[in-house]
Amino acid sequence: MQRLIIIALITMSVSIQAQVSKVEKKIVNSVDTHHPEALRLLEEVVNINSGSMNFEGVKKVGMIFQAKLDALGFSTKWVDGSAWGRSGHLVAEHKGKGKTLLLIGHLDTVFELASPFQQFKMINDSIMSGPGVGDMKGGDVIIIQAMQALKDAGALENMSIIIVMTGDEELSGRPLNLARKDLIEAAKSADIALGFEDGDGNPKTAVVARRSSFGWELRVEGVPSHSSQIFTKDIGAGAIYEAARIINGFYEALSNEENLTFNPGMILGGSTVEHDKEMDGGSAYGKSNIVAKYTVVTGDIRAISPEQLKKTQDTMREIVANHRPQTKAEIIFDDGYPPLAPVKGNYDLLSYYNKASNDLGFGNVTAVKPRDAGAADISFTAPYVAMAMDGLGPGSAGGHTVNETADPRSIAIQAKRTAVLMYRLTQEKVITGQKK
Ligand SMILES: [Zn+2]
Repeated sequence: MQRLIIIALITMSVSIQAQVSKVEKKIVNSVDTHHPEALRLLEEVVNINSGSMNFEGVKKVGMIFQAKLDALGFSTKWVDGSAWGRSGHLVAEHKGKGKTLLLIGHLDTVFELASPFQQFKMINDSIMSGPGVGDMKGGDVIIIQAMQALKDAGALENMSIIIVMTGDEELSGRPLNLARKDLIEAAKSADIALGFEDGDGNPKTAVVARRSSFGWELRVEGVPSHSSQIFTKDIGAGAIYEAARIINGFYEALSNEENLTFNPGMILGGSTVEHDKEMDGGSAYGKSNIVAKYTVVTGDIRAISPEQLKKTQDTMREIVANHRPQTKAEIIFDDGYPPLAPVKGNYDLLSYYNKASNDLGFGNVTAVKPRDAGAADISFTAPYVAMAMDGLGPGSAGGHTVNETADPRSIAIQAKRTAVLMYRLTQEKVITGQKK
């Protein structure tokens, strides 16, 4: 048994050697050499609070990554976020030849200053804990490590790379067209986008499709009266019956669509309604013997493609317009995160990544089910690049909770996979398809 294992290991290491070029071996060595330094960098940035609304903290984290990228030869800038009510973004560029790769990170976390969760802790060889170790300061450090490795291997010099680390991924500023302008501009000059979110937490998977996330608000109005007059010609159905018809209509028409979900998350109805949008709440006053004048419902839609999203919104509008007697209703769609549609280019990119992973001896990487992938910044780049893939961040668990952890070993593994993938993508033989 033991001998068999040894033989298997020798065979495996021989086959890895054969699959990895001289430059790629240098990449692997650089990541290993810089691994302790990478973990120190991660500890440093995790210990700086950067809740999305802590503008100073977000910028401070940005400055640390900026200095690292400056030292690697990138031209960097801090883009002030006051126009969209947030801290800002770090944008770095490395001019070179051939295809342009866009790398996406974010500097903010969901943990504001009031959170009890503020400190980095190394629990053991395979678990570290702290706000953002997985989502996604760990991913940002992987970006830095990969750039360092490409430089050490002499590959960075000729490469064309843009890095955007947003300061408001977890609680994006508004209007979104300003908050994501720099990312979209970068995508327009890029051929391939790579996101370093931790995806579903499993480094053996990557995200090549994810659904959009859009909000909606339904506002309904009826004619108030004594309840004894409901259903008469002049009074009609009232706002609550109308809202119930609409919501049930959504369910009947759309709940069986594959990869589509829409969830009414809050409802307020009665004679008067105070809806506090900022607080996602409000209050309502009404009596059982009065026909309701107002109803407000808020919810979300998650769709796999721009086409599915549009079809859903059109169907919802049609249902809303089909009023019960003496009622009015309108539905308003918020601007939100677009989908990352499951296009062929993304699956091709995953196959290159999978090949790089196998050649490095790290095994297969498969696609996350779109329904299990939350919205993220990479979606904004999807309309402009030929290929996009996210989830290249560390192995992690407990994201967005005080139990967030990540696997320190995965920082090195992901940096190796990423740097080798990037190196191969910029070699002429790789076909990236048509840029949009
Ligand atoms: Zn994130």
